[in-house]
Amino acid sequence: MDTEITKTDQEWRNELTSGQYHVLRERGTERAFTGEYWDCHDDGRYRCAACGGELFASDAKFESGTGWPSFTEPAVAEAVTLHRDRTFLTVRTEVRCRRCGSHLGHVFDDGPRPTGQRYCINSCALDLDRPRHRDPAERDGPRS
Ligand SMILES: [Zn+2]
Repeated sequence: MDTEITKTDQEWRNELTSGQYHVLRERGTERAFTGEYWDCHDDGRYRCAACGGELFASDAKFESGTGWPSFTEPAVAEAVTLHRDRTFLTVRTEVRCRRCGSHLGHVFDDGPRPTGQRYCINSCALDLDRPRHRDPAERDGPRS
């Protein structure tokens, strides 16, 4: 794979938890409703758990009801690459981190407006970078 960050299998195994390794490097899928972020509403930037590259913004996160964190779009289009996935009987579109080539999840075209896309991402492939300074009064306030 032609990526900015290349590590050996052993290096990835050393750096990642076994669950992360399974998802990120073996293209696994964590069980729905078990991950850290599917029900997370905190503001911040979701980074790749393998390389730290910025992938998704909390602004693009929405309630999909699937049990996995879901986003309408990547933080920047260049953050991810899309690949045709024929692992199962249906053809799906796999989402990978552009920097390190790690598997993140899949994208489907049944998402909400305006993009109509649903990036269905494994929690353990993400690392939420919460802003350090924030007004506590805004914490649970209404969102526009
Ligand atoms: Zn990455």
